[in-house]
Amino acid sequence: MKLDILAFGAHPDDVELGCGATLAKEIANGKKVGIVDLTRGELGTRGSAETRDRESEDAAKILGVAFRTNMEFADGFFVNDKAHQMELIKIIRKYQPEIVICNAIEDRHIDHGKGSQLVSDACFLSGLLKINTKHEANEEWQTPWRPKQVYHYIQWKNLEPDFVVDVSQFIDAKMEAVLAYKTQFYNPKSQDPETPISSKNFTDSIIYRARDLGRLVGVDYAEGFTVERYTAVNSLFDLK
Ligand SMILES: [Zn+2]
Repeated sequence: MKLDILAFGAHPDDVELGCGATLAKEIANGKKVGIVDLTRGELGTRGSAETRDRESEDAAKILGVAFRTNMEFADGFFVNDKAHQMELIKIIRKYQPEIVICNAIEDRHIDHGKGSQLVSDACFLSGLLKINTKHEANEEWQTPWRPKQVYHYIQWKNLEPDFVVDVSQFIDAKMEAVLAYKTQFYNPKSQDPETPISSKNFTDSIIYRARDLGRLVGVDYAEGFTVERYTAVNSLFDLK
């Protein structure tokens, strides 16, 4: 299956929080989108790996992605080494995305910056002819593939975006997908311990940050991204 966009997250819910509305918009525009979670989020304070498996399936249905898979790397402890890069190269070559979106380049959670660099490195290596891979042992050798663009969404820290996407029509879909992670976010009835993302302010922040980014560019809601190289346009009139 060839994809237009492959979105990676260190933990289930990273993609929804970081770029859920942008993905919903691209899917509505007819683009084929997949999600790859690097870990099952098994070290998360609230819920369990099993509850997050189910929640991430629900969120994928809400967004309408073509597929979602989990690499089952070790939450908190995965590293950016050859073994992990090779696993991601196989996925990138299998789905041949034009655009890859991944974690924030630096953040409060150590997996975010680490996952960001791991995915970015795998995207580069995936284009090299002399790295030989098979997705499954009994399948054919894969052809090299390098995505045209790697973008990074913004997470806990208020990083400065290099560009923003107008998601005014898709903020509701994003919130529905985010709140599919029922164990993770604000719920006054939950008996689980409080975490930085279980506060009401955090849930509210998803909206007010999108609203503020939108305000700065004259739309209702926006999501921000950083880039790895200059953004190029064909014409000055391409920008909103
Ligand atoms: Zn995360």
